[in-house]
Amino acid sequence: MTMRRVIFCFLAVFFASIAAAQQYDLVIAGGRVLDPEGGLDAVRNVGIRDGRIVRVSAEALSGKRIIHAAGLVVAPGFIDLHQHGQDMASQRVKALDGVTTALELEIGAPDVAAFLRAKEGRSLINYGSSASHVAARALVFGAPLPAGTILPKSGPATDQPATPEQIEAMQKRLGSELDAGALAVGMGIQYTPGATRLEVIDMFRVAAGRGVPVYTHMRSAGRMEPGSAIEAVSEVIGAAAITGASLHIVHINSTCLRDSTECLAMVEGARARGLDVTTEAYPYIAGMTQINSALFNPGWREKLGIDYGDLVLPDTGEHLTRQRFEELHDASGSQMVLVFANTQEIVDQVIPHALVMIASDGIEGHPRNAGTFSRVLAQYVREKKTLTLLEAVRKMTLMPAQVLERSTPDARRKGRLQEGADADVVIFDAATIADRATFQKPMEPSVGVRFLVVGGTVVVDEGKVVEGVFPGRALLGRRSAVDVPAHNVPAGTF
Ligand SMILES: [Zn+2]
Repeated sequence: MTMRRVIFCFLAVFFASIAAAQQYDLVIAGGRVLDPEGGLDAVRNVGIRDGRIVRVSAEALSGKRIIHAAGLVVAPGFIDLHQHGQDMASQRVKALDGVTTALELEIGAPDVAAFLRAKEGRSLINYGSSASHVAARALVFGAPLPAGTILPKSGPATDQPATPEQIEAMQKRLGSELDAGALAVGMGIQYTPGATRLEVIDMFRVAAGRGVPVYTHMRSAGRMEPGSAIEAVSEVIGAAAITGASLHIVHINSTCLRDSTECLAMVEGARARGLDVTTEAYPYIAGMTQINSALFNPGWREKLGIDYGDLVLPDTGEHLTRQRFEELHDASGSQMVLVFANTQEIVDQVIPHALVMIASDGIEGHPRNAGTFSRVLAQYVREKKTLTLLEAVRKMTLMPAQVLERSTPDARRKGRLQEGADADVVIFDAATIADRATFQKPMEPSVGVRFLVVGGTVVVDEGKVVEGVFPGRALLGRRSAVDVPAHNVPAGTF
């Protein structure tokens, strides 16, 4: 072979391989691409191959499939740190709300290995769980949770203090749940009022020892002392300071109520002192929980500043009376109830706050399950204009991804629209995106999400959920205490 021919062959192979390299599995063409980490907000083409974003470019890209996204926003898929409904119906409405990852981190699944087994290969979107202190306590007290529930009925297992031996058994259980792949320790302290301050600190110690955060629904809501929301925030910030565990306070608005901005100032203060404390909220004035839980132990009306009539059954819209409440509170079934304890003014102050990320606390029966993310984009970005689009997207993507980085390095590839990131992408119309779920019709899907991509697979196509695809993958904790990194508070504020 002549030298010329060798060079020719080499060049032919070279250009052929470039052509192959430029052929992507999926190209999202001409959309307004937002990356909250790099601050990118420009028209770009996104090339996806093998489940990853491999190219973000102003140049045209060729792919096996092209999604034409001109006029649409292309953002990292939304990450919901707080999602209870893990069934397919909930996953479908989450997908139509722009969510690519929905994690049960507040309380946690009662059996993490069983949870992961049930979801593997059968999930539309990505999933994961914390290790449940509530379930560990129920187990240790000999009253394991009934199948399909995450909260116990109020009784000795929720209301009595534990012995040192029982506390140790709970710690062991949390350790084995973390071994099974849990991302964090989940605590619903209001649902286990018998847990002493020391028991709480001892559970934070498990998290600190494993280098994972504690996600917590705090001990109490409202203004009554002792037992105010301010006291509850002090308790968990104290436990974080004592143990060194990272702390994520869930739904700060629905626990702190009228003192929400004070609670946020406490979080801000703790962060300024070097503690790793983060928080979240959902954009609704009502909460929802199990009516036979310890949250409704005697004194709840005084504490929350509400009455029987502020409790509403989600299925029928029935406002409760004292008699009806007592009947349901004493029942063993897990009837859910809406709790109207907040005001629109408070929610409107909390959602735009720089420290607050968006998380739904989603569960069937409450519109937050289906509408949380679209509602923030519709109400706070488009109507009230108290958030920019990029700020709102940041609260739904980068901020929760950074919290998840405390649990797994895999989260560094989430919440970003960059080369090397996981191809979890939402493509929506910023002019029309809106929630449609209401307290009367809580499972009405949002409108405006045109496409959703999970790990490179299209799961929402032209506004419709694609049937028979299950690209959702588990996010798992680090499973062992070996490589526990030191967690510093990230530079700057969220
Ligand atoms: Zn909660």
